[in-house]
Amino acid sequence: MPRPYRSHATYTCVVSKSGDANSEFITQILAGYKLSHVFPPDRIFTNPAKWTAAPPTVLPPAFKSQTASAASGGGGSASNEWLSVSYHHNNKWCSRCPLNLCKGKVLTENILSRHGDIKSLPPVMYVGDGGGDVCPALCLRRSIDVVFGRNNYAMHKKLSNLLPTNTTTAAAATAATTNSAPTTAAAATKQPTFSEPPLRATLKAWADGNDVAAGVDALLSK
Ligand SMILES: [Zn+2]
Repeated sequence: MPRPYRSHATYTCVVSKSGDANSEFITQILAGYKLSHVFPPDRIFTNPAKWTAAPPTVLPPAFKSQTASAASGGGGSASNEWLSVSYHHNNKWCSRCPLNLCKGKVLTENILSRHGDIKSLPPVMYVGDGGGDVCPALCLRRSIDVVFGRNNYAMHKKLSNLLPTNTTTAAAATAATTNSAPTTAAAATKQPTFSEPPLRATLKAWADGNDVAAGVDALLSK
């Protein structure tokens, strides 16, 4: 979805792909969309990767590319046909995220390192789709920040249950159950529970890049 980034190249923060992606794949995809200038290397936060002639001897394991794609893909070659991928960091602090990357930490550290005072930041707009995007979404601020979640994907489904109205309803239901003796233990366990904090940022759904572009345009034109 290149359009919003072409239109507004003054974002405060862009957090790139996480999880199974790596710097080699992302760099080539951005180059294919001619967006390398929008996402310079120091603004890409993912698992570092490099082409090597032999597989590494330590985990995480390398991925051996297909000979044809390695020879023509711009990254690999006949002599460097192994893509060695490392962890972005060793996540020991966040149970929401995988071991290799906590986007919430990346987002928070990226904002703080650039601006110092989070209260003075302009609006942050975060676009995501997968479960790994829930953590950074929950780091966003009330009222001013916006999170775009891909409709019917894990991120939007999870965050829809963490809207303040839903969590308030769930809390009220739980309180009602607590104050009035449940008829059965099974009935009591059916009440929804939330171990996550409510989502503070505004949640908007998107189906394609045009939805995100329209949302960004609307927010920036206010
Ligand atoms: Zn996390």
